Amino acid sequence: MNPKVIIIGGGASGLMLASLLPKKSALLIESNNKVGAKIDISGGGKCNITNQKMGTEYFLAKSRFIRPSLHAFSNDDLLLWLKKHKLVPVIRKKGQYFCNHSASQLTDIFKKEIKKQHLLLNETVYKVSKKERYFNVHTKNRIYSAEYIVVASGGLSFPKLGASGIGYEIARFFGHTIKKPAPALVGLTLQKEQFFFKELSGISCGVHIKVDHCVCKGALLFTHRGISGPAVLDASLYWTKGEIEIDFLPDFSWEKIAKSTKYISSLLPLPKRLTKAFLLKLGLQDKAYCTFTRKEAAILQVLNRYRFAPAGTFGYTKAEVTKGGIETAEIDSDTMMSKKVENLYFIGEILDVTGRLGGYNFQWAFSSAYASAKSITHSLYMQ
Ligand SMILES: Cc1cc2nc3c(=O)[nH]c(=O)nc-3n(C[C@H](O)[C@H](O)[C@H](O)COP(=O)(O)OP(=O)(O)OC[C@H]3O[C@@H](n4cnc5c(N)ncnc54)[C@H](O)[C@@H]3O)c2cc1C
Repeated sequence: MNPKVIIIGGGASGLMLASLLPKKSALLIESNNKVGAKIDISGGGKCNITNQKMGTEYFLAKSRFIRPSLHAFSNDDLLLWLKKHKLVPVIRKKGQYFCNHSASQLTDIFKKEIKKQHLLLNETVYKVSKKERYFNVHTKNRIYSAEYIVVASGGLSFPKLGASGIGYEIARFFGHTIKKPAPALVGLTLQKEQFFFKELSGISCGVHIKVDHCVCKGALLFTHRGISGPAVLDASLYWTKGEIEIDFLPDFSWEKIAKSTKYISSLLPLPKRLTKAFLLKLGLQDKAYCTFTRKEAAILQVLNRYRFAPAGTFGYTKAEVTKGGIETAEIDSDTMMSKKVENLYFIGEILDVTGRLGGYNFQWAFSSAYASAKSITHSLYMQ
């Protein structure tokens, strides 16, 4: 084995890169006993691969950095690549493409594809150094050398699936700046004032959440730990600290019910338990809406703009992704190569690029892998 390229991490980005590189040019090192562990459990076991709607606005990232790779290997290119490998994903909701049977359909493609490369499982990288043209990759058992290194080790989310901070350590060692990582696409915990939410565990409703100039629309789920559900997960991407504002009654017209004699808990398009909990919290009685005074009606309308500051997040054990990461101004946007160290590449979630819910994180993993594959393949052929 004399690899030209060493890929650290056999997750989404590392696997796509290994599939695209010339035969036997790469060694893929993965600390787990299998590749693609996160893919296998993603999207509720069906893997939300990409989305019909694609654009820089679906990412928390510098647009000018992600645009070239999203364009060079777009959602349509990904679908064509999948079709070539006999996987035709289905659109399930909101333009989201999922595997039609199970996420393992995707990992199976990769498992077959990477047979053309060298693979080491159960091998954990703990350091990378460089001597002249060669990078040395240190694992517990050995030192592996290659001219090209691609760090595809992901973020800190889901440590039980192999997540580690090695990518940040390697980046720091070679002089890169790290934007503070934090859990994202994750539930939010509550301050004492909102502990009454915990009593509503299991209830969900459609909401709009305003956070840092963004509006996240979708379902909110009350849990015993706090709030979760698609709208909250998206909101967690933009939230760092301070207040968020939830509209529990988007598209609802108070005028239309002004004369209603129905009790408010039966009238509002919300689960009864939720309305009753709010009435109690707001010191209002459950009675016919037409009997509400102006003042009482105004208090109740806080349901359209309920503001509070979450206490924190559910943390990395529950977060689908890690936001923050390697400063992208220090990475070439066409190739994913470090601007500081030649032939050192970073792809996927380790970079300061995070997508919203909906298949955007896999698309980024694959698009960034494609950009690095093109650059490395070109250099290999030029040698
Ligand atoms: C529960 C869950 C569901 C998700 N669902 C979706 C979804 O449906 N759609 C979507 O777009 N995104 C989803 N995501 C996010 C998506 O999985 C990630 O953004 C994506 O996998 C990132 O790819 P990556 O290659 O950068 O990192 P990863 O896929 O995390 O791969 C990194 C690999 O590096 C290995 N590694 C780490 N440290 C070392 C080391 N020291 N030595 C050797 N190997 C190492 C890890 O074991 C891992 O296999 C989900 C995430 C989770 C946790």
